[in-house]
Amino acid sequence: MPMINNHSDAMSQSESRANVLALYPEDSREAAALLKQAVPLMVRHNIPPNPVHYALWYTYSKGQDPELNRHLDRVVRDFDGCPPESATKLFREYIIRDELADVRAEQQQVISLVDGMERDVSRSVKGSLNFQNRLGQCLEMFDEPVSDRLPGILSELQQSTRLMQSQQEHFLTQLQSAQTEIKSLRDKLERAQLAATLDGLTELLNRSAFTRLLEQALSKTSNGVALVMLDIDHFKQFNDQYGHPLGDRVLQHVGQVLRGALPAKAFAARYGGEEFCVVLEECADLNSARAFAEQLRLKVQSLRIKARGTDTVLDTITASFGVAFAEPGDNLESLLTRADDGLYEAKRNGRNQVHAMQKDPALAL
Ligand code: GH3
Ligand code: MG
Ligand code: MG
Repeated sequence: MPMINNHSDAMSQSESRANVLALYPEDSREAAALLKQAVPLMVRHNIPPNPVHYALWYTYSKGQDPELNRHLDRVVRDFDGCPPESATKLFREYIIRDELADVRAEQQQVISLVDGMERDVSRSVKGSLNFQNRLGQCLEMFDEPVSDRLPGILSELQQSTRLMQSQQEHFLTQLQSAQTEIKSLRDKLERAQLAATLDGLTELLNRSAFTRLLEQALSKTSNGVALVMLDIDHFKQFNDQYGHPLGDRVLQHVGQVLRGALPAKAFAARYGGEEFCVVLEECADLNSARAFAEQLRLKVQSLRIKARGTDTVLDTITASFGVAFAEPGDNLESLLTRADDGLYEAKRNGRNQVHAMQKDPALAL
């Protein structure tokens, strides 16, 4: 096992480096042209010139990842610049994300490997049990009448069979304990893999797992897929007034509200800091998604969060919601953009409300 792990670690590091480089195949002339586009943007938005920002704005200028561009636009719009923590987060999410995908693939490989071992060992245990039974039957056949007739050879045979039986017993015990170990290793691996898909604070799906699942949901096309995106209102103010730890508790409570409200065939994720998404995989139309979002809005609004150890209820928490329903021709990017646009409208119209966005923005509900 360790040999296999070391080997695949080494493979994945060099492979993921290669993967990251493969995203930037342009020659030095093209690269210089892209940098020429990136630098004025950085200057315009007052972005400090460091390698992380260069990488982000270079990739932005290249336009190879519309989701990154949308996010950078938003960060710049919200913060009037790009705070270092946002830059680091975006860098990890968008520039080195293939490396993360590799790690996931690797974990899956190890799980398959362990599954294979488990199958082999389980077959060996069955085989050994059969063999053990046969030996037992043989020993019974060797009893008294036989030992009278062929004392020499048979008693030797009897002894060696007994020896074999005890060795076989030992082997069987070892196999069974290997089987238990393999099962527990598999559980650990599965837990680790699950943890890699969850957000640590809210235990909802994290953004990358969410994106993968939404992509899968959209590729099925058979049932209506709706996306509800929500963002807590004036959360910065809440943090400033009550402190970050209480802010974190609000996020956990909102996470619980979402988990508790999920119908069958739906999933929820923490999409970013105080932004969440819910996907309904079997939704009739935009109107039912809007009604679902409205229920969520009321549930968030009725949260009563108290400071620890006191009965004082903190400020009412509200959130704004953007809703989109997947229409023919939609993809991950267009659906996210539409829900995000709806969310932006909900904020613009005064917050604590739902805005369902029709495919043609002129026809928004
Ligand atoms: P708006 O109604 O326009 O959404 O206003 P806002 O204050 O919620 O929006 P803004 O984007 O200005 O601020 C988001 C805040 O969310 C800033 C940041 O402190 C907070 N935040 C992001 N992630 C976390 C987190 O993990 N924990 C806590 N406590 N706060 C977070
Ligand atoms: Mg926000
Ligand atoms: Mg907010």
